[in-house]
Amino acid sequence: MAERTPTRVVALMNQKGGVGKTTTTVNLAAALALHERRVLLIDLDPQAHATLHLGINPHELSGSIYDLLIDSSLDPAAVIREMKPGLWLLRSETDLAAIETELASAPDRFERLQRVLQRLAGRFDVVMLDCPPSLGVLTLNALAAAHEVLIPMQAQFLALHGVGKLLETVGLVTEQVNPSLRVTGLILCMYDSQTTHTQEVVNDLEQFLAGEHAKPVPWRDARVLRPPIRRNIKLAECPSFGQTIFEYAPSAQGALDYMALAASLISTWHDDAAPGPQTTGEASPVMHVEIPRQEPSRAAV
Ligand code: ADP
Ligand code: MG
Repeated sequence: MAERTPTRVVALMNQKGGVGKTTTTVNLAAALALHERRVLLIDLDPQAHATLHLGINPHELSGSIYDLLIDSSLDPAAVIREMKPGLWLLRSETDLAAIETELASAPDRFERLQRVLQRLAGRFDVVMLDCPPSLGVLTLNALAAAHEVLIPMQAQFLALHGVGKLLETVGLVTEQVNPSLRVTGLILCMYDSQTTHTQEVVNDLEQFLAGEHAKPVPWRDARVLRPPIRRNIKLAECPSFGQTIFEYAPSAQGALDYMALAASLISTWHDDAAPGPQTTGEASPVMHVEIPRQEPSRAAV
């Protein structure tokens, strides 16, 4: 069993839909649980794809993250549920979309998730946040509560173009909601090693990140994480069975890739100092954040 460190809160975000956020959050969370971490997955997307992926009906009547964000008197321990050994879910529901307007004038609207996590302090080694493909109140709650951001993306020219803008947006937002937040890694999803285009994009990405290491930006330590997640049809099939890849096809490439990615993340976490102050301290005061204008993003498939 690994030695226990404070809870590490990881936001998986990319404003673009259909890049592999949910597939990665679910299967990486499951892989970390198989590596004997206590993992809480929070589905922050009103589309509730991670919830469905784990076999839960988002229309059922039990409590969800929506209830916890709206009503701070609720006990999150009564709402989370253990889905597999070591893997807990805090589910989404379609009503979650309403939170953007319901919390619009609440002065503490970006601190709600942080408070929920403070009430669960010490219960988990890792909290994985599956963000919606937009930069609204839900994603800002994730960025305010997280220690680090992982960016799932595809190795394509347009995705590369989007990453620079995405990093700048994260930078702007974090300055105000969470100055200690770091972007630690880019995860290449639906990776096709056979094409020269893929190789060129990865080279460009690594060159770009190498040029950022000396700058005082939240992504100065970001790396392209290894291994990339190969395109694997089993990963696309398993959500319809309400199963992770480790139940559905444990020897498929997708299972091997997410297992190896989890091991590689754990080894970098081991080298790091303990995560920043937000798990132990009080909620940091949140200033007035101008939510940047979003570009329309493709709805998740
Ligand atoms: P997002 O959460 O960013 O919208 P998803 O994780 O839902 O993206 O992925 C978009 C689609 O691509 C889904 O249908 C998913 O099953 C599929 N997919 C994701 N990763 C892979 C992969 N490595 N191989 C094949 N299909 C994948
Ligand atoms: Mg998704």
